[in-house]
Amino acid sequence: MVKRVGVIGGGQLAWMMGSAAQKLGIELVVQTPHADDPAVAIAHHTVLAAIADAQATAELAKHCDVITFENEFVDLDALSKLAAQGVPFYPQLETLAPLLDKYHQRQYLQDIGLPVPKFAAIAKDSSDPPSPPFSRGELVESPLFQGGFRGISSKFPIVLKARRHGYDGQGTWIIRNEGELHAKLQQLQGRSLLVEEFVPFEKELAIMVARSQTGEIVTYPVVETQQVDQVCRRVFVTEFDASVAQQAEAIAHTLMEKLQVVGIFGIELFLTPEGKVLVNEIAPRTHNSGHFTLDACETSQFEQQLRAVCGLPLGNPSMRCKAAVMVNLLGYESSENSYLNQRQKLAQLPNTFVHWYGKTQSRPGRKLGHVTTLLKDSGDDGRAIAQTIEAIWYPSS
Ligand code: ADP
Repeated sequence: MVKRVGVIGGGQLAWMMGSAAQKLGIELVVQTPHADDPAVAIAHHTVLAAIADAQATAELAKHCDVITFENEFVDLDALSKLAAQGVPFYPQLETLAPLLDKYHQRQYLQDIGLPVPKFAAIAKDSSDPPSPPFSRGELVESPLFQGGFRGISSKFPIVLKARRHGYDGQGTWIIRNEGELHAKLQQLQGRSLLVEEFVPFEKELAIMVARSQTGEIVTYPVVETQQVDQVCRRVFVTEFDASVAQQAEAIAHTLMEKLQVVGIFGIELFLTPEGKVLVNEIAPRTHNSGHFTLDACETSQFEQQLRAVCGLPLGNPSMRCKAAVMVNLLGYESSENSYLNQRQKLAQLPNTFVHWYGKTQSRPGRKLGHVTTLLKDSGDDGRAIAQTIEAIWYPSS
């Protein structure tokens, strides 16, 4: 029986595993770089070290029975050596291998027949030294841009992405014209990049999916996510058109089965104006789009992750309510304020749960907490509730 779970990463995702761990009688041991990272407060033991420090992970392994991830910015080659020595990782390192580099991830998804936006690498491989400055030739060579540089111009906007270490939109740039493209490529010299078509999506969606050690798969309801400046602001859990939900679920099942994943993944999706669902990105861990599951579902995404990695049967993912809204509380200033007043006002809203991550520093765009409101009826106006929450949280300008 697995009793101690090591978690690489100590941010809010690891912190939110705390109550599920307690419920299941599991101790969490965390590897994270800063003593004031949220999960340090709930960890049984902490190894203070960088995420990619595999020597520290060897130390972490001494304190736990299995290791899982809340952050995928790891050094997979170095971790593979530990796995070869018998350290158990869930999800397995082989399932992470095709996903950590956004270009490899797109290629993998395409290879297994999942729908993705058109894409190309600029530098051929993340291990290749990119040839600065990126020439027009390199872009033109890609099938995305047949028709030469004119072909590119006719495709604006396009999207440039850093192949690794992007999060919360840091590492994603929407490029609107030739001038912006040249300026950005100059600025990003030396980084391996992915370029892709801009998808004029109708909505962004996401789905959480878990797979157990016995191959059981459960999905959570597909949700709509809304991003502002490429950062998730709010999530609406409401009923979707059956065809949309079926496409999202089919994608989730295919991915988990092909990779034989043990754990939980978040899948970010685009819904095109034609009603087709495309995969934007796979998060091989719990995800912001699944935070609603803490209050709105029988089993949260955090409990599900622990169940999967500990070899327990998966829990029931069903909703406890008809619909829900989750709003991120993003920093809007540099401050050490704990925003008690705003948090108290939010907590007074009906059927509302405030989760505050206990970060000591606020910075613009930083995820400081989130709020979930449960709705009795799928017809209830979630958008109005999100507006009320944001009106309390953000200072009026
Ligand atoms: P991150 O890894 O930082 O979350 P993403 O690749 O998910 O980065 O991009 C962040 C946001 O940027 C997306 O949620 C979406 O709003 C926008 N975006 C990313 N790729 C595209 C695209 N190909 N077309 C249109 N918008 C995009």
